[in-house]
Amino acid sequence: MSLVGRKFNRWTVTGFAPRRRIKDGPTYWCECECGKVKSVIGNSLTKGYSGSCGCYRIDRVIETCTTHGMAKTRFFRIWALMLGRCKYPNTPGAKNYIGRGIQVYERWKTFENFRDDMLESYQKHCKEFGARQTSIERINNNGNYCKENCKWATRAEQARNTRQNNIITFNGKTQTITDWAKESGINLRTLSTRIVRNKNPLHIALTKKRLLRKNEPPITYKGKTLLKSHWAKKFNISYQLLDWRLKHWPIERAMQP
Ligand SMILES: [Zn+2]
Repeated sequence: MSLVGRKFNRWTVTGFAPRRRIKDGPTYWCECECGKVKSVIGNSLTKGYSGSCGCYRIDRVIETCTTHGMAKTRFFRIWALMLGRCKYPNTPGAKNYIGRGIQVYERWKTFENFRDDMLESYQKHCKEFGARQTSIERINNNGNYCKENCKWATRAEQARNTRQNNIITFNGKTQTITDWAKESGINLRTLSTRIVRNKNPLHIALTKKRLLRKNEPPITYKGKTLLKSHWAKKFNISYQLLDWRLKHWPIERAMQP
C-alpha cells in the first residue's frame, strides 16, 4: 500500500523515489517540516525509525540543553538563533541566510564548541558595550558562521555592514550609506528613505534640496516655540510622522522621539 500523502512525524510523503538497494523495499520522497527533501525507505517511516531529516534531534538538543547550564542565557539564544537562521526556514530572518547558502560550520553545530570559541570575547564585548549591543557578525557578509569569520559587533556596526544594499557606489567611491550620510550631512534616515523607499538614484538623493514647507506653523510645547520641522528634527522623527501624530494624538504623546 502506498504511503504517498501520509504524514510520519515531521515527514510528509510526496511520492515514490528510486530504491537505493533492491532489498530496501518501496522508497519515498519525503518533505520534512523544515523544508528538506530526502528519499526515505517506507519501512523506516512505518516502523518509526525516521521521523524527520534530523532537525527534530537538533530541536530537542536546543530545548533540553541544560547540561552546560546556559540554556537560558542570551549567549545560548544567540547560538540557537544562528543555527536556526541557517537551517529552518521558519526562523526569523532565515530567508537571508538559507536563500544565500550561509551555513554554520560543523564545529559550531555543537553548542559547547561555540561556547569555547566565543564566550570569552562575548563577555568582553558585553562588558564594554552592554549585552544588547553585542551581536554576532560575520566579517565577510557572504561567508559562513565559523570562528575565523565571526566577531561581536554593536548594532550600529551590524546595521552598517549586514545589508548589501547599504553599500553604494557613487562617483567612483564605494561606501556604506551611513558614511554617505555623514559625508553629505544629510540625516541618515532621510537619505535611506530617498534611496530605499523613493528609489532615488544616489546622485539625486545626495543633492536633493530639502523640501521647503510653506506656512509651517510654529508649535509651542512646554514653554518652547519651534517650527514643526525643528521639533521633528529634535525628536529625530520625520516631519510627516510628527504631522500625523499631531493630527491624531494628544500633544504630549506626539511630541517625543
Ligand atoms: Zn527537518
